[in-house]
Amino acid sequence: MSRFWSPLVQDLKPYVPGEQPRIEGLVKLNTNESPFGPSPRAMAAISAAADDNLRLYPDPQAVALRETLAAYHGVSPAQVFVGNGSDEVLAHAFAALLRHEAPLLFPDISYSFYPVYCRLFGIEHVTVPLNAGMAIELADYRQPAGAIILPNPNAPTGVALSRARIAALLGEHPDIPVVIDEAYVDFGADTAIPLIAKYDNLLVVRTFSKSRALAGLRVGYALGHPSLIQALTRVKDSFNSYPLGRPAQAGAIASVLDEGYFRETLAAITATRARMVEGLTALGFETLPSSANFVFTRHPNHSGAALAAALRERAILVRRWDAPRIGDWLRITVGTGEQTEKLLTALTETLNA
Ligand code: PMP
Repeated sequence: MSRFWSPLVQDLKPYVPGEQPRIEGLVKLNTNESPFGPSPRAMAAISAAADDNLRLYPDPQAVALRETLAAYHGVSPAQVFVGNGSDEVLAHAFAALLRHEAPLLFPDISYSFYPVYCRLFGIEHVTVPLNAGMAIELADYRQPAGAIILPNPNAPTGVALSRARIAALLGEHPDIPVVIDEAYVDFGADTAIPLIAKYDNLLVVRTFSKSRALAGLRVGYALGHPSLIQALTRVKDSFNSYPLGRPAQAGAIASVLDEGYFRETLAAITATRARMVEGLTALGFETLPSSANFVFTRHPNHSGAALAAALRERAILVRRWDAPRIGDWLRITVGTGEQTEKLLTALTETLNA
């Protein structure tokens, strides 16, 4: 603390991202990055964008990228917002749409950035417990609310809601904004995008960081009714007019246009996830049904802390939280087939030790 800090800063509880250590041979399964590189076409577009034009500001409205995303998802460019990673898009959504008299609702076990934004923006919130099966129970959202935000699939559980369930939620809450954070949706959940034509209160937030293997480029986006997009744009233009540089805009466009590479890498990750769950089950782990590029798992006879420490000694990083209800669970990113075999071997040795 310093006497120069504003009261706001003194009161913040910043988000702590998963570590990014530089250890030789590390099997890094802690931050849900893709084990594959980005689309080669995206890399070529990023390199090509590193030219003399970098002296010029990028397009502040990222029109070409928004048009590409609109065409890909079958919406209009006025229904697309882009930002510097979906964390920034979410931050703008919290400021623009989620602060109301009544509290914001989100699951008790969910993306741990949500309460951080609430604190930053002074948003009252109520957390709604997941049910005994660690799933979102829509009936529990029938309570006074100013807005709702849910990841689908949820993080860190990986458990998804069907599109019909999301539609039911929207039908029950027609008069408040509902944000669905689809960071992991491409790995096997239903997208809510087709619902935006019917529900003007729905904002869908997405990222290039996971299924498009571009976490280092920082590109996220949101889709929704033009009036919701306008609200986000008003906040963005009150904060940073140029959130996406030229290489980011060019790389993101090329990634969207490379559908073949996208499908191929998704298929590899979902196949490895099945192998990982099978291996974990054989070792006695209980794993939640995952629609994401990670699994949430626990062992009945070993604490999460002990397992995470044992893996770390073998240069395998996974993520866990010292938090109520989930302290014994590990969130493990689905890596390559080879990384998965290393993980299963390390766990086998640990359990036999
Ligand atoms: N939403 C969820 C649920 C996430 O897990 C993450 C990644 N930490 C994000 C959003 C943000 O991802 P990014 O800012 O890289 O787009």
